[in-house]
Formats: sequence, structure tokens, C-alpha cells
Amino acid sequence: MAKKNSLTTYKQKRDFAHTPEPQAAKAKVSSKGRVFVVQKHDASHLHYDFRIEVDGVLKSWAVPKGPSMDPANKRLAVPTEDHPIAYAGFEGTIPDDQYGGGTVMVWDSGSYRNLKEQEGGGEMPMAQTVEHGRIEIWLEGKKLRGGFALVRTRMAGKQQQWLLIKIKDQEALPGKDICADQPDSAISGRSLEEIKKRVRS
Ligand code: MN
Repeated sequence: MAKKNSLTTYKQKRDFAHTPEPQAAKAKVSSKGRVFVVQKHDASHLHYDFRIEVDGVLKSWAVPKGPSMDPANKRLAVPTEDHPIAYAGFEGTIPDDQYGGGTVMVWDSGSYRNLKEQEGGGEMPMAQTVEHGRIEIWLEGKKLRGGFALVRTRMAGKQQQWLLIKIKDQEALPGKDICADQPDSAISGRSLEEIKKRVRS
């Protein structure tokens, strides 16, 4: 089905003369690896942005409490606008007067595999799992590992509600609070404060 360029909203919300964030460019060749990133974002409310590469863009959700490695924790995830693939490497501070003003950290990143199979066998296309509201992926991050489900639970008007849940498997860590235990950047080792003060890694 035809869709408008899904990065239109990303572009409309930002003034690239004033934000250090990457400009919107849809990846011309979808990279073979499937990127995922979780960005800790110290905006008006601290939250975590969970992003996965699907068809050349980063599908994105804001997770107020951040991901959990404990299958007992169901974390609210609210969809946000698609981001360009280049955003996965963005760490820095967005000026306070700009959209999303605040410091952004690459809290975790890596690659993922699609676990969702379709009837008759084979992998269900990722875009279809997003559309169905039932994503199941295996994450290979520095902090997050193993199976995760992202499930749409509510379609209330425009504001969808999803849940991010660790699947019970050998990588699960019941009782662990990984956001508190491992607060710093997965790519630079910096804290939010160090990123804000532009301490070089
Ligand atoms: Mn955010």
C-alpha cells in the first residue's frame, strides 16, 4: 500500500539550522543488518526512545520507564514519528527551544532478528508485524539481549498504546533493574551529564 514519505513528520518538527540531530534521509538501500537503538532522552520528562529499523527508517516508541529485562514488567510504549536510520548514532544535546529539547544518549544499540513467522512458514515481513501490532524480535545489544515483544493494546483515537515486554527466555533477568544498573552510554560510556557538558569519550 502506498504511504507518504514516513519521515515527513520528523522533518516538519525540526529546524536543522538549530538542532544537531541528523537530517532526514531515507536509507536508499536498506541496510542488511537490522539496527535497533534505545536512546535515553532527558527532555521535559526523562524517557527512553526505543527504535527499530523497518524498511529504511527507524520505527520509534517512547518508553517512559525504559525497557526491562524482567518478563514481569510490561512497559508502556507510545509510538512517535519515524526517524532516519542515521539517528541511531546520535548522541548530543538538542537546544531547549527546539522540539525534543534536552540531552540524548545512545543507552543501548545493536542488531535484531525478526522472530515472527507467518502461516505456512518463513518470516513475516517486519512492516506487517508493525501493522498487526504484534512485533517479536531478538535483540543483540550491549545491555538488552534476547526476545522482546511489542504489542499494541489500545487504539484510542490517534494515540495508540503499546507494551514492551521481555519474553521469557534464557536471557531474561527477573528482578533486575537494568536502567538503574547500567545508566551510561553504550557507545561512549558517558553519563547524561557528561554528554551535556560535551565531555569527550
Ligand atoms: Mn524522545
